[in-house]
Amino acid sequence: MRKNIVAGNWKMNKNLQEGIALAKELNEALVADKPHCDVIICTPFIHLASVTPLVDGNIIGVGAENCADKVSGAYTGEVSAEMVASTGAKYVILGHSERRAYYHETVDILTEKVKLALANGLKPIFCIGEVLEEREAGKQNEVVAAQLASVFSLSAEDFSKVILAYEPVWAIGTGKTATPEQAEEIHAYIRSLVADKYGKEVAENTSILYGGSCKPSNAKELFAKPDVDGGLIGGASLKVADFKGIIDAFK
Ligand code: PEP
Repeated sequence: MRKNIVAGNWKMNKNLQEGIALAKELNEALVADKPHCDVIICTPFIHLASVTPLVDGNIIGVGAENCADKVSGAYTGEVSAEMVASTGAKYVILGHSERRAYYHETVDILTEKVKLALANGLKPIFCIGEVLEEREAGKQNEVVAAQLASVFSLSAEDFSKVILAYEPVWAIGTGKTATPEQAEEIHAYIRSLVADKYGKEVAENTSILYGGSCKPSNAKELFAKPDVDGGLIGGASLKVADFKGIIDAFK
């Protein structure tokens, strides 16, 4: 059966010392009070090599927030999937709406990133989701279906290593959360697309996370929906009490 997962996305927050302190504090809290779901923290590149050995790998997985769409070479400032994997990280967020919007990451670029992540043993946390105008025009299903092309080019074996995250852009960092019903409706639709492409068994085993202003006060209701398998958490992953409050929704 698919896993329940709570994953944090630190974004461009915390300097190295602050990030180390946050990871240590979270690790201590979860070692003392074991989570009933998988927990992942996705950190800026510079934290990865320090944070990975600090946390108990049986309790917390570590991931990057991005990787390059090229293998190696003259791409100043880029960080390859191989480099990410060499830190001990096991996951990478790809297709986050901020990367799509601000860094113009297209379906084709993301297809390359997904392939390179998998080739280097990283599990992609692949984000999809519509902007407000698309939701208002009732186009959310169309939008997520098109975005899934980046992972639907994979073999079934490779696709089974992918975690999907539905993140309505209008809910990210806005304090406006999708209702549990809105989340369930589109998660079920996403799972039906996976079933059409790879079959029912693969679809049933795919974890689909919800992201967008998820917090301790709304996590339980969202995660109670049958097709919501956990959350991708931005702002609330920066404070241990809040992040743990969300993790504890699975208790
Ligand atoms: C995100 O950016 O992945 C996210 C879900 O952010 P927030 O929780 O802050 O809305």
